[in-house]
Amino acid sequence: MRTGVIGLGAMGAYMAINFHKAGSLHRIWNRSRGKAETIAKETGIEIAESLERLAEECELIITCVSRDEDVLSVIERISASITPGTIVVDTSTVAADTAKKAAEILQKQGAHLLDCPVSGGVEGAKNGSLAMMVGGDESALDRARPTLEAIATNIAYIGPTGSGQSCKAVNQLMAAGINQAVTEALAFGEVMGLDMERVVDIVASGAAGNWFLDHRGKNMLAGSYAPGFKLALHHKDMGICQSMLKNACDASLPMIEMTLIHYQRLMDEGYGNEDISALFRLKRQQLAGSPD
Ligand code: NAP
Repeated sequence: MRTGVIGLGAMGAYMAINFHKAGSLHRIWNRSRGKAETIAKETGIEIAESLERLAEECELIITCVSRDEDVLSVIERISASITPGTIVVDTSTVAADTAKKAAEILQKQGAHLLDCPVSGGVEGAKNGSLAMMVGGDESALDRARPTLEAIATNIAYIGPTGSGQSCKAVNQLMAAGINQAVTEALAFGEVMGLDMERVVDIVASGAAGNWFLDHRGKNMLAGSYAPGFKLALHHKDMGICQSMLKNACDASLPMIEMTLIHYQRLMDEGYGNEDISALFRLKRQQLAGSPD
């Protein structure tokens, strides 16, 4: 399918490159032109004149932008010129209600929205090995699936529109807990005076091993927090989980509330564009009283 990618940030740029390798990339667009020029140079693919032109020229449109309002503004613009039957795959992480609003806007033009948030980090985007959680019309997914396999090795249909995003909220809440556990345990190990490189190696091979420890453990010990996944974006996701839960049963969860507070502190200190593993800064401060 002639595929267009909108949003060439940390995730979208690698997705575009993988569609190109699979032979389906047709147009790209990014709000700030520099990122689009980099991908155009690497792939030889034309930058769309505008969002509206990209929508006219592509049968499958991938969006990967930051927040709910960004998704809706992009969807409003592409809906003006989209061809009936076009499938829009939104890989951004947003609220289930935002996916439903986006689907309604596109439905008026005869186009389909699949909410398809992904997991696997920039490494997964780079390797084309993302896990994709899909909400929407299953027959639209059947049509898009062969093309989407360029970016995701595991594509799971979850249910009607919004279900993909609800599933991603589960993932993000779990990721927050893992971040809390790993950063706190590593700070604890430092206070015990252990050789932490050795600790990471052995712990990673046992029952407490996990993706986050494998991919971020040694970097954070070295005080390196390059994204990865920006802390401010995970803060956005915790806000989504908080409001979804409030709407569903007027409840709150300690993991959500605690992580929101911790991330807000780090954002206030200017660390919002660092990787979520920057939570280690706080844990170190709490235990050792020594900011790094
Ligand atoms: P990023 O590197 O910050 O890139 C964000 C992209 O969105 C940029 O291309 C940006 O354009 C574009 N954008 C933002 N607001 C826009 C608007 N109003 N109109 C048009 N474009 C807009 O973020 P990312 O890490 O790629 O994440 C993108 C989405 O994927 C987020 O929803 C995030 O939660 C989700 N996600 C991220 C990861 C990860 O590990 N990074 C993993 C899974 C899911 P400019 O270049 O002009 O700023």
